[in-house]
Amino acid sequence: MTVRTRVAPSPTGDPHVGTAYVALFNYCFARAHGGQFLLRIEDTDQARSTAASEQAILDSLRWLGLEWDEGPDVGGDRGPYRQSERMALYGEFAQQLVADGKAFICYRRADELDALRQARREAGNSTALKPTDLALPDDEVAARKAAGEPYVIRMMVPEGEGSCRIQDMLRGEIELDWTMVDAQILLKSDGMPTYHLANVVDDHLMGITHVIRGEEWINSAPKHQLLYEYFGWDMPQLCHLPLLRNPDKSKLSKRKNPTSILYYQRMGFLPEALLNYLGRMGWSMPDEREKFALHEMLEVFDISRVSLGGPIFDMEKLRWLNGLWIREELSQEALAHRLCEWAFNRDNLNAVLPQLQPRMETLSDFAPQAAFLVSGVLPIDAAQFDELGVERDELIRRMQFALWGLESLSVWDREAVWSGLKSLADAMGIKVRDFLAPLFI
Ligand code: GLU
Repeated sequence: MTVRTRVAPSPTGDPHVGTAYVALFNYCFARAHGGQFLLRIEDTDQARSTAASEQAILDSLRWLGLEWDEGPDVGGDRGPYRQSERMALYGEFAQQLVADGKAFICYRRADELDALRQARREAGNSTALKPTDLALPDDEVAARKAAGEPYVIRMMVPEGEGSCRIQDMLRGEIELDWTMVDAQILLKSDGMPTYHLANVVDDHLMGITHVIRGEEWINSAPKHQLLYEYFGWDMPQLCHLPLLRNPDKSKLSKRKNPTSILYYQRMGFLPEALLNYLGRMGWSMPDEREKFALHEMLEVFDISRVSLGGPIFDMEKLRWLNGLWIREELSQEALAHRLCEWAFNRDNLNAVLPQLQPRMETLSDFAPQAAFLVSGVLPIDAAQFDELGVERDELIRRMQFALWGLESLSVWDREAVWSGLKSLADAMGIKVRDFLAPLFI
């Protein structure tokens, strides 16, 4: 058996460090077993998926050095590798399940679903709707069908007590209660598949042998296991990696840490160091050394060395590691080259010069004026914060997050900047004028 793994990001925003983390472990597992690593774009949510986000994900993973063997841009035998190009397939598989009695057509309306959930709650049950909850009398089904009402296709799930057992490569057997598993929608009323259907169909058709993904997907595993059973397919082995966490142990989120790979790129982190740091998340080298390159990680890679305690993504630690890479791994020549590429390439200069040229008298005015653009740190006057009654560092941090958040908008204009900062000020209960004062220097 050839090992085949995949990373399957949804292109709905900036490339996330969590995606890179999952990609790294999939990459290492495949390479360490002489197998293949695939990249699949899960863009079934057409309203939220964008081509720009997909491109940024591909660029970021490539920047980190995680090359894939098959994917939307490099092709392969089992393509297409973008779910939006595989839509016809999912409908056929959903219909097949209906024909086999493993899925059913459901005409329930939104208000009815609410009422059914409420009834279950009142009866002291979980709100996971089961096939019997959703059933309608035959004449009602016929009437709704005749009226051309929208319907979805849902999967059959067990109704009674009992638990589902999932085998996880790191966690062993996981037991999950069937009562929590609802009759999941597989095909939406617009004919689009949900994640669950598309993901299982594609993992099977693409010959994926090991599904290595974040632990937030554990609760989906019973549904996936059932689907494999219904289709009569072998299920890939599952491995749920621990979630990355903020230093306060909460799930890594952009409110507390920059989560976009683009941020780390722009702030001058080296791809080798970021990858090294992600490799340290829940995993360690046998000799516990902190600094290692991707090829060194690969030489000794063993997925069972992943530890399940939530790994903390700590910016300070990453900076420290990045410093080691800069000082110990780059020659002066290499550092000069990276700096030019990073800060003073023509694209960057062209982007900032329209702002700076009107303010310059000599060429040497450039450096101090451009400093904050290059460093990403706003030159904010500490004294201005005293009257606001908020913690200064907290406010600066939040402002920076608001500004970074704006980077992912396609419109970086007055309106967008204003409304981004205004909603943050509102959320913090500070008058927007006071909030903005320190920015006007
Ligand atoms: N599209 C899912 C995500 O964005 C993939 C989850 C999986 O690996 O099954 O994380």
